[in-house]
Amino acid sequence: MTYYPDLSPYRYTVADQPMLNVGWLEPGAYFPRGPVPAQLVDALLKLGTRPRNKLRGFHFCEFCSRYRGTGEIHVVGASGIRYAAPMLIIHYIFAHRYRPPKEFVEAVLSPVCAVA
Ligand SMILES: [Zn+2]
Repeated sequence: MTYYPDLSPYRYTVADQPMLNVGWLEPGAYFPRGPVPAQLVDALLKLGTRPRNKLRGFHFCEFCSRYRGTGEIHVVGASGIRYAAPMLIIHYIFAHRYRPPKEFVEAVLSPVCAVA
C-alpha cells in the first residue's frame, strides 16, 4: 500500500471534488497513536459497508501482515471537506492504536455524506 501523510491531497483517481488522505500508514513513517472515541470504529464499519475504489486492490497491513482489506472509505464532514481512507484504517485503529486527525474523526461521527 502506498503511504500518504494525513490530510495531504488525494491524487489516486481524478475526483470531481478534492479529497484529503487519512490513514495511509507505512512502517517507519510517523503516525499519531492514542485513544479515539468509542463510536469511531463502529461508525467506520458502517461507512465501510459500501467501499469505494475497489480497483485499488488488496491492502495488506505492513505492520503485522495479519489483515488485508480492499477499497476505501470516503466521508464528507460538516466543513464540506471530503476524506479518503483505506478500509485498513479500521484495523490500524484497533490493532495499532492509530489516532486519525480530529477533523476526520468528527466527519466520520457526523457525516454530511457517507460516500463520494
Ligand atoms: Zn496490522
